[in-house]
Amino acid sequence: MFLILRCRKCGRFLYARAGTKSKKCVCGATSQVRRMIIVDRAEDEREAGEKVRFYQEREFGKPDFVTFR
Ligand SMILES: [Zn+2]
Repeated sequence: MFLILRCRKCGRFLYARAGTKSKKCVCGATSQVRRMIIVDRAEDEREAGEKVRFYQEREFGKPDFVTFR
């Protein structure tokens, strides 16, 4: 089981294996998984990756149109 999480600092979506204590986001913030917002769940890592991409695109648009700082 994987959890789809949202970074409280930058709002990016990421995933972590269930049971993981903390997760470091690409923005540099390390968060306690249990204190993060659980957006969704996935059965395996492949599904987790797809869901993260889905939420990212829904929130920020297609990567081609996003300028990351
Ligand atoms: Zn972040």
